[in-house]
Amino acid sequence: MRRFLLPLLLLMFLFPSCEKNEARVFTSLDLNTICSITVYEAEDEEFVQGAFDLMKEIAGMIDMYDEDSELSNVNRNAYQEDVYVSDELFSLLSYAYSVTEYTFGAFNLAIGPLVRLWAIGSEDERVPSSSEIEEVLPLLDWRNISLDEDEKSVRFLKEGMAIDLGAVGKGYISDVLASYFEGNGVESAIINLGGNVYAVGTHPSGRAWTIGLQNPDTERGGYYTTVECSDSAVVTSGGYERYFIAQDGQVYHHILDYKTGYPASSDIVSSSIITEDATLADMLSTACFALGSDKAADIVRHYNVKAVFLLKDGSTVRIGI
Ligand code: ADP
Ligand code: MG
Repeated sequence: MRRFLLPLLLLMFLFPSCEKNEARVFTSLDLNTICSITVYEAEDEEFVQGAFDLMKEIAGMIDMYDEDSELSNVNRNAYQEDVYVSDELFSLLSYAYSVTEYTFGAFNLAIGPLVRLWAIGSEDERVPSSSEIEEVLPLLDWRNISLDEDEKSVRFLKEGMAIDLGAVGKGYISDVLASYFEGNGVESAIINLGGNVYAVGTHPSGRAWTIGLQNPDTERGGYYTTVECSDSAVVTSGGYERYFIAQDGQVYHHILDYKTGYPASSDIVSSSIITEDATLADMLSTACFALGSDKAADIVRHYNVKAVFLLKDGSTVRIGI
């Protein structure tokens, strides 16, 4: 059983006071975090429930921890045979593979065996021995995942490999939910899946949304800066979101480096990506956190997204926003 952890970071959203349109917030504990949907118009509860149902449906496809998910079927069988998957899963895997290649594995879809070993966020979390780490490192090379575009099938070239979509799933789900809202004519809504925010449309006042970025040193709700956006995802990754403190007092967080086998470390404390493609934003926020501000800036420009990084020295880097 995975332990439910309250994420220490949640992006908070702010809005100017507006008497006419009252915010109504619906919350659920899903995706191993707190999810909330804020609507302003006459969207009824049933409509919002439809969004939560959609969320669960997709989670049931991509969750590595759910034995019945389509992804688990891939992880169980792709070494023995070609596993045929749905078009939807195949597209997501191809996208994740391409970002893995471009970020040189800073975001790595093949990180599964290492994530399982550390088990951060579960009852079994612990610092693995160096020999255990040595053992899984050869299983993390994404080039040993073969994706067949024509057949829509997946094959692992090494036994014991596993795909983990933990660093892209919430972004993908928020894209699907944002389309659901937009497709139903919703002009103002905020989807917040444990820090993966999608600002649908504009604030009911017609102005852009103002999204606060959580200050890692203060309680939830305290922010170190804000960004203005509309029709856009704001996705943040930070080492302070999910971590454990070992017996020696050392802090180990949940974004791992496939080369060393240990938590990734750079000059970035918190990395936020702003773009209308939440799937991409989720992958890049993880990659940028791991890469550090210099390399991250190149990635951000290549993908033509916006970014805000909080650095260890307390300074803030803003790119394009
Ligand atoms: P969160 O899920 O807390 O929003 P991220 O999007 O950064 O944060 O994803 C972290 C999760 O992704 C981890 O819990 C793990 O399942 C997986 N993961 C860890 N390190 C990597 C990595 N280098 N590349 C891809 N996925 C990773
Ligand atoms: Mg991510």
